[in-house]
Amino acid sequence: MAVTVQSLPQGPIAANTHIITDTATGKIALVDAGDCTDTLLSMLSGGAVEYILLTHGHFDHILGVAALKQQFPKAQICVHALDADCLTDEEESLCSWECAGQQTMIQPDRLLQDGDKITFGETELTVLHTPGHTKGGVCYADLKNRNLFTGDTLFCLTAGRTDFPGGSDEDLLASLIRLKNLDGDFTVYPGHNRATTLDYERTHNRYMRRMGK
Ligand SMILES: [Zn+2]
Ligand SMILES: [Zn+2]
Repeated sequence: MAVTVQSLPQGPIAANTHIITDTATGKIALVDAGDCTDTLLSMLSGGAVEYILLTHGHFDHILGVAALKQQFPKAQICVHALDADCLTDEEESLCSWECAGQQTMIQPDRLLQDGDKITFGETELTVLHTPGHTKGGVCYADLKNRNLFTGDTLFCLTAGRTDFPGGSDEDLLASLIRLKNLDGDFTVYPGHNRATTLDYERTHNRYMRRMGK
């Protein structure tokens, strides 16, 4: 195994934090951080966390980012440019709706664009801009190890909501078509609930099965 992936639901709406470990070097990238619980820290103990990768800026995926950065100051916080304001604005992150005053503001280290590469050890992730749930939503694709981290764009048997500010039905459908049209199968690690596979979603997901090729 070139990477291992562990998933831990955390935070106010149990958003998954995925821990991707490059097995050759022990280097780690985290995908989303709705909290920074003792359970997460014990899973990371002694690990070299190089990246805190955000699939989008909603509060349930970012409330643990500032605390994680304190624990791992060298870790780069990465978010798509169009969702970057969420890290410094509770209105943008929707934190003000659910848990006002609980977000610790923090600046991202790197703003992502479609096609960017994230490298740690022998592992490379490709950034896919997949707007629709938010303007700056992204998926992270590990093309070699066939893992796809989909945030709130694609879930097992469903897809992300489009009724929040910045959401768009049209954009979400285009993003789902893009994922459907990726070559080959992937293990899909969504932002909430259980993992699935892209082939399973291509045939069973009600949003995905009728669209695209
Ligand atoms: Zn969301
Ligand atoms: Zn979410």
